[in-house]
This record gives sequence, structure tokens and C-alpha cells, in this order.
Amino acid sequence: MKSIRVFLLVATLATLVLVVFVSAVQGFQSSMKEAERLFDSQLQEQAHFAANLRRDKLSGMTNDYHIAYQLWQPTPGGEPKLLVNSGNIPAAAVTDLAPGFSHANFSGYRWRTYVYYPDYNDLIVVAAARADIRYQLAENIITEAILPVVIGLPLSGLLLWLIVGQGLKPLRELAEQLRHKESRELSAIDLQRTPNELDQVVNSVNSLLERLRGAFDREKRFASDAAHELRTPISVLKLQIHNLEHKYPDHSEELHQLRQGVERMQHLVEQILALYRVTPDQLSANFVAIDLYQLVEAVVADNYSPFEAKRQTIELTANGGDQPFRAMMEGDRFALQTLVINLLSNANKYTPEQGHIHIDVSRQNDQLILSVEDDGPGIAVTERERIFERFHRVGGDRHDSGEPGCGLGLAIVKNIAELHRASIAVGESSFASGVRFTLSFAAHFADKDDQQGEPRA
Ligand code: ADP
Repeated sequence: MKSIRVFLLVATLATLVLVVFVSAVQGFQSSMKEAERLFDSQLQEQAHFAANLRRDKLSGMTNDYHIAYQLWQPTPGGEPKLLVNSGNIPAAAVTDLAPGFSHANFSGYRWRTYVYYPDYNDLIVVAAARADIRYQLAENIITEAILPVVIGLPLSGLLLWLIVGQGLKPLRELAEQLRHKESRELSAIDLQRTPNELDQVVNSVNSLLERLRGAFDREKRFASDAAHELRTPISVLKLQIHNLEHKYPDHSEELHQLRQGVERMQHLVEQILALYRVTPDQLSANFVAIDLYQLVEAVVADNYSPFEAKRQTIELTANGGDQPFRAMMEGDRFALQTLVINLLSNANKYTPEQGHIHIDVSRQNDQLILSVEDDGPGIAVTERERIFERFHRVGGDRHDSGEPGCGLGLAIVKNIAELHRASIAVGESSFASGVRFTLSFAAHFADKDDQQGEPRA
């Protein structure tokens, strides 16, 4: 069953047609009975009437008449003698002349016959009426009764369609609310009007959402508490390694490796904290107006050394050129910095020495577009969805690049983008190789100049 609405419509119309059909059959039968009764009493009267009619009048009746007569004279001890008959009945016996009603076939029709013996014993009257006229009448009655229903069927269908549609509105509303629920939005469903039948469903869905909310909160709290608790011992470890490096210069290679391991652990802990620190409720309540271009510029300046170390070229443009503009949007400064840092850090890590990184902030209508592209190895189309999954690295832990990482950077980027209602796309970079990450945020127009995307003074 594809649609409840179609099912209810078809089922109701089928029931309606069935009921109409049964009542039509029933009506036909009772109309026939009634017609029989009426016609029979009429036939009786006509037989009485014919007994007194002038005989020449009877013989003048032709096939056009639906009534036929015969007058017979009984003969003592012998066969009755036909005195006169109308032109539409044979001049011979059509019944056995027993008094009362019977049926006979003559002149190409079926007839209802009535044999009447008047009191003065010298006459037998046979009156016959065409039977098909009776059926015709019953048919007419029934057709007239059914016709309005048949003609009204499409209208009933339309009305039913609208009524059922109205009845199913709460169900549609429920489906709509569930469909539009964002992955992290677990608030309870609230229907304008909940019919009894949906009460149970809505309650079950709401209690499921509540349990999910609880589970997510516990997961977040655990991860962020654990990460937080790990921070101090890691700092102590780093300090101890630093001291050991001074104390045992001969073991610098081993200690260097130890330091790298601890730094990786520190990175992982910081990423986990970044992932769980930014929760929707904390964040959107504290959104402030931010100039995206300025923010990116500051992040690039603060994180320049890794690019320098790999002799990479990093270029920042505004609307594809060198004219900065007021790129205002609403957001959380720390979260947006984390987002840009993660994208830049990936570009730096996965692009080889002397590679190129290009960042652009531009405005397209009411959107601010941030794009980060590089001429590194790029990301295969089949991997472009999965890279946003937590702990997913292309090629697994033994990453081709040999770069350390924990597979959380892009999950954090996606998380922050979602919290800012920004869309994120991965595509080919405009260099010969490499990848381009494009994020579009809703621009925030504080004044008229902003709307026009005026260059910065
Ligand atoms: P990490 O960098 O810690 O492995 P991320 O979540 O930041 O984790 O990235 C996931 C994966 O996406 C990386 O392991 C890498 O394979 C791929 N990736 C991300 N950015 C780039 C890039 N600029 N060039 C090539 N591959 C990339």
C-alpha cells in the first residue's frame, strides 16, 4: 500500500459502489413486486371492463395495444367457443381458461393473462397485458434511483479525497517535522493538533528523542571530560621530555620520537575537546558579528610557520582579487578559527614541499563563500563523503602521506559548519591537482554598504 489516502479513497468508493449495487438489486426486486401487484389489479379491472364492452370495439384492437382480449362462450359438456378476440391475440386458446392469473407467449411477446368468469354464466373473459412493459417500468424506476449516485461518484471521490487529506494532515505534519529535524536537533515533536490515533506514535517518538538526547549528552560529557583530564598529564609529560632532552643529549633521537608521540596525543586531545566544546545551545546563543575575511587573515598570520617550514606559498584573496571587503556574518569566533585552522592545517600537511595553497573569501548574493584549495594529491571522489566521518583517514592509519593525524579535523569542520548553518562541498582545486573545500555561510548585512559589498576603506 503506497498511500493511505489512495487506499481509503479506493476502499470507501468500492464500499459505496457495492452498497449502491446491492440496494439497486433489492430495489429492483421490490419495484418489480409492486409493479406486478399494480398491473395485476389493473388487468383484473380491464377484464371486468371487457365483459361489458361492445364486441366490435374489441375486434378493432390491433398490435399497437399492450392489452389483448378474448371472449369465450362456454358450451354445456363441450369445448368453449371463441366469440370475439382483439386483433393482437390469436383466435385460438392461449391459456387453459382456468380462472385467475397465468402467463402465455404469443404475437412475439410474453404476456400476463387473467381469465375471468362473470356471474352470468355464458361468458369467459381472457385479458392479457404485455409483461415486458412491467419490466421496463421497474428498470426505469431503478435507473432513475441509481443514476444520481453514479453521476455523483466522481464528486464523492473528490470530496472524499479532500476529507481524507484533511484527516491525514496531522500525520503529514509529523512526517514533515521528522524530515526537517537536523541530525543534532533532538527536541520533542510538537503537533498543532494530535489526534488520538497519533498520540501513541508522537509519545513514542518523543521519548525516543529524549533517550537519544541523553545518550548524546553522556557521550559528549564523557569524551570532553576524558580529554580535559588528559591535558594535564600530557603537559607534564612534555615538560619531562624537555628536561630529559637537556639531561641526555646522546639520546636526542629517541627522545625526539617520544616527543612526537606525545604531541600527537596532545593534538588528538585538543581535537576531541574542540569537537565537543562547541555544542549548539552554547554556540548560537553567543553568536557575534564577525568579519570572515579579517578572521581568515588573522588565522593565516598566526599559523604561518608550518607553511614557511615546507616552503609553501599561501595566498589569500577577496572576491578573487586583492581588494579586501567587509565580509560580515554571524558566528562564534573561536569555532570559526578552529574551522579555518583545521582546513589550513590539512592543506599544509597533505601538500608537498613548495606546494601552493589558495584561500578566497567572496560574496555571492547573500552568501559568504570561503574556499581553501591546494595543489596536493587531492581526494578521490569516492572518499569525499567519508572524510567528514570521525576518525576516518584516507587509506586508514597508514596514511600515504605519512602525516600524523587522527581523522577528526574534518569532522570538526563539518560540525562547526552545521552549527553555523553553512553548507560544505569538496571538489577539484583550480590547480593542476589538489582539492578545494568550499563553505557557504549566510552573510549578515549590518548596513547598506555591506549589502553592496563595499571594499574596505
Ligand atoms: P587527519 O588530517 O587528522 O587525518 P581530517 O579529518 O582532517 O583528519 O582529514 C581526513 C582525511 O581527509 C585525511 O586523513 C586525509 O586523507 C584527507 N584530507 C583532508 N584534507 C586533505 C587535503 N587538503 N588534501 C588531501 N587529503 C586531505
